[in-house]
Amino acid sequence: MTNSVSFLPGASGTSGAGSFASSSEPLTLGVMGGGQLGRMFVHAAQTMGYFTAVLDPDAQSPAGRVSHKHIQTDYTDPSGLKELAACSAAITTEFENVPAPALRELAKLRPVSPGADAVAIAQERAAEKAHFVKCGVPCAPYAVIESAVQLEDALSKDLLPGILKTARMGYDGKGQVRVKDAAALHAAWQDLKQVPCVLEKMLPLSFECSVILARGRDGQMVNFPVQRNLHREGILAVTEVYEGHLPAALQEQAVAAARSIAEGVNYAGVLCVEFFVLKDGSMVVNEMAPRPHNSGHYTLDACDQSQFDLQVRTLAGLPLTQPRQHSPAIMLNLLGDIWFDGNSAMRLPDWSAVLALPGTHLHLYGKTEARRARKMGHLNVTGASVKEVRDVALKAAAILGIEAF
Ligand code: ATP
Ligand code: MG
Repeated sequence: MTNSVSFLPGASGTSGAGSFASSSEPLTLGVMGGGQLGRMFVHAAQTMGYFTAVLDPDAQSPAGRVSHKHIQTDYTDPSGLKELAACSAAITTEFENVPAPALRELAKLRPVSPGADAVAIAQERAAEKAHFVKCGVPCAPYAVIESAVQLEDALSKDLLPGILKTARMGYDGKGQVRVKDAAALHAAWQDLKQVPCVLEKMLPLSFECSVILARGRDGQMVNFPVQRNLHREGILAVTEVYEGHLPAALQEQAVAAARSIAEGVNYAGVLCVEFFVLKDGSMVVNEMAPRPHNSGHYTLDACDQSQFDLQVRTLAGLPLTQPRQHSPAIMLNLLGDIWFDGNSAMRLPDWSAVLALPGTHLHLYGKTEARRARKMGHLNVTGASVKEVRDVALKAAAILGIEAF
């Protein structure tokens, strides 16, 4: 006879997560969304002995394919949501466009983190910027454009040249048009079908950086070091994290800003906050992502806990300890482009040549079709010194046909 006490780490007494306290069944953690972030969450959860359930309409979704359970319905399908809640002890999300009302429904039945309110803010650029202002963190000068009157108003605000961004559903630079004058702004808003937008002043960027933190339901917070990010055509290309990659004062400022943004919405879960550092050395916040982030993938190989480990811990109500980076790191994003040669013919990247380099860690997301600009995987490079890591990362980039950085 055995006692029916779970072998899994669980937080008895964690508010709302009573089902973690004792159970002979393996506990299941649920996730809304089946993309690569969900897949890496599933891997982390399974490493700690949890079962996982993924809700995603796509039969081939990267996370659905590796999860114990894949519920294949729309994100708002009541039967799918009910099934997810029925089998999961707690539920998280892996992309910010999960409909907030679906999270609200789930939250009636199970602990959900991050909560619908925080996700709703991150889903809408105007609400997001208002939240930053409320938290005392400066962002780029902007105007909300929801009507022709507001568009004319915006023209008097010294925001050009600027970037017109749809208020909702933007990612990887999609739904954005660079506008240099009034005529271009009018044309761009027409092209975007006059949906609600935000016009942002184009800022002189020196570089970009981001902070990933994890906050428990009890308010305890830990964070990773600040990442330095290089974007190309609106998509993250390279992340670098090592001693001396950013001035210490900027790092402190970014971490303090990210913490106050999280506290301002009583955030629970993993949060990424992206910043612009301007040519004059000042820093403004760009946006927040209520989930692990592409710029945090280096944590899988360069830190003693990854951003996905912390997502599991926050969801399960487990203790958080400050993560430690044990190796300098560079992450190269592997976009579908590298599966095509100069003549647009399909080819397989030369993984053998890349993996022959020391300290390379290849992560592929199991996507069956390579398309240009599609995130297919990433390559982490770790090593004993910054020089070693940079040398290897540049060699790997050359082999793969990724522009040097
Ligand atoms: P993500 O995939 O990160 O959610 P997104 O589609 O929401 O991206 P943004 O982060 O708004 O897009 O912008 C993408 C990139 O475009 C930024 O990382 C930056 O390089 C550039 N960019 C955006 N806004 C500005 C600005 N106001 N001034 C200068 N560059 C900008
Ligand atoms: Mg961005």
